[in-house]
Amino acid sequence: YHGKQTRKGGMVLFSAEHETRIRAAARVEEAFQTADLEAEMWVAFQPIVDVKRDRVVAFEALARWQSRELGPVSPVVFVPIAERSQMIGKMTRVLLKKALDAARHWPSHVSLCFNLSAQNLASPDGMEVIQDMLRNAGLSPCRLEFEVTETALLHDFEQASACLQALREIGVRIALDDFGTGFSSLSYVNKLKLDKIKIDRSFVIDVDVSRTSANIVKTILALCENLNLDCIVEGVETQAQLKVITSLGCRLIQGYLISKPVAGDKIAGLVRRIEQL
Ligand code: C2E
Ligand code: CA
Ligand code: CA
Ligand code: CA
Repeated sequence: YHGKQTRKGGMVLFSAEHETRIRAAARVEEAFQTADLEAEMWVAFQPIVDVKRDRVVAFEALARWQSRELGPVSPVVFVPIAERSQMIGKMTRVLLKKALDAARHWPSHVSLCFNLSAQNLASPDGMEVIQDMLRNAGLSPCRLEFEVTETALLHDFEQASACLQALREIGVRIALDDFGTGFSSLSYVNKLKLDKIKIDRSFVIDVDVSRTSANIVKTILALCENLNLDCIVEGVETQAQLKVITSLGCRLIQGYLISKPVAGDKIAGLVRRIEQL
């Protein structure tokens, strides 16, 4: 450890590791700001499957960045950077265009799910561009779904809720992502017109060994049933988890057990494998 004297005379302690991490973050940030998003970003797709009918119902679009300077960077790292640096609007448009272009070639029973972040919902201008893209997508709006997290709604709820309403008016569906991880999930279910809830992976990890986790999933499923909402369980990795989840009555599943996110050219083969045609 070495100390750094601040102007007010206080002492701020840094570990060498902490400093290295800050430098790395600054490098990623710089690389992102100068990146050619069109060329360096691509979209991976992960299937959401109705396990009762062996049907793929949708693919979730997941952002991927192959940085020319740094190689592959995780969305967990670059999405927050895009948000901080006001580049999320541009990034979203690039990704949505690529995702829509891919989805046009999918079987007609397969929908596209796309993630929106807080900044997307805070910008009426950006939202108009997105609406235009959807209207000209050549894809029925009923095959489109947007995923938002509770944190995306926290900042300016009125604004975010107006943006979501504008999207719904086009005919697309809205899902509440990472359900159960925040403090106000239930109040959002109450305040927003939602179509779907995605139960967070944290409740799935030990669902086959923990009574509490299984009961939480069971309770969320009952809530969805009562409110007439669809429900997806995400992050299913093992047969044991799948067995518990389906026994609780859930049939929409997303997770490595079925498939990791794949590139667009793998989709036809993947749908065939899952649906065993
Ligand atoms: P998310 O929306 O909750 O997406 C699900 C994440 O869980 C994805 O990680 C996915 O690859 C991962 N996952 C799926 N099944 C399993 C599983 O069985 N086990 C495990 N361990 N993980 C699983 P990914 O692709 O790294 O994305 C991370 C997060 O980055 C996303 O979480 C989302 O919040 C954000 N993100 C990704 N793409 C976009 C985007 O286009 N726009 C925005 N705003 N955020 C995005
Ligand atoms: Ca998501
Ligand atoms: Ca999620
Ligand atoms: Ca998550």
